[in-house]
Amino acid sequence: MQILTNPQNLMELCRQWHAAGDDIALVPTMGYYHAGHEDLMRHARTLAHRMVVSLFVNPAQFGPGEDLEAYPRDPERDSAIAASLGADILFMPEPGSMYAQDHATWVEVPDLAKGLCGQSRPVHFRGVCTVVLKLFMLSQANIAVFGQKDWQQQAIIRCMVRDLNLPVRIETRPTVREADGLALSSRNVYLTPEERAQAPQIRQGLLRAQELAQAGEHRAGVIRDSVLAWWAQHLPLGRLDYLSIVHPETLAPLDTTDGSALMACAVRMGKARLIDNILLRP
Ligand code: AMP
Repeated sequence: MQILTNPQNLMELCRQWHAAGDDIALVPTMGYYHAGHEDLMRHARTLAHRMVVSLFVNPAQFGPGEDLEAYPRDPERDSAIAASLGADILFMPEPGSMYAQDHATWVEVPDLAKGLCGQSRPVHFRGVCTVVLKLFMLSQANIAVFGQKDWQQQAIIRCMVRDLNLPVRIETRPTVREADGLALSSRNVYLTPEERAQAPQIRQGLLRAQELAQAGEHRAGVIRDSVLAWWAQHLPLGRLDYLSIVHPETLAPLDTTDGSALMACAVRMGKARLIDNILLRP
């Protein structure tokens, strides 16, 4: 595995691979790897001749007062993991090599980015789209792999790929969880032992919503209220950011779960902001 920090070097090497007839699969990440990242890499490894993993804590997707500086980092451990899972390149650029001082071009998908996480993170998806497009261009990836934990992110990226005719196939992978149901996240290290003990209740609440929907409850408001009641009882350390029932592709809020429906949430626990989601009806 080669570790590259220079965007130009990444572009040149990937160009050579394409010229030799090789496909490229890309796994964009912010590092501090857990089994969710590993699953994306293992999957990407099966999809193409070459695998590029990017590790970049992208300043553009953090708003003022968010955890850019505190975001956990362990590049040595991460590079050992990426190498062991068959990455051909680990791309670890410095922010200054990805963004010129007077960087001025942004990619936005405003309709899909305004709800859910976009409500409390107004510049987040603009930063994500811009860096992901840059990574697509630099790696010239044929395939890119994302996690369903960040459901809104993958929906926005699919839309960007469609609208801009990007020659990249998007694949998503189910959320990898701890044995107690908590979605793996690099940010779980922020949790105190008390918060960690309660955090699986996020998933328990969502599972209750799914049970209700599958038992025939169609009213989104009733389903949502039952989750809020569950959390009020079992998740006292959690502070709700949002809990919404939306269409899985358009992300439009739904009043009923007659068709496909996704329940998505963000809950703050101490220093952590945890997200999760569940399909109420596929
Ligand atoms: P991050 O490093 O948190 O930006 O995540 C990089 C990629 O890993 C994104 O596509 C995430 O959706 C995905 N990912 C993060 N957590 C999980 C998880 N628990 N299961 C599966 N994929 C995940």
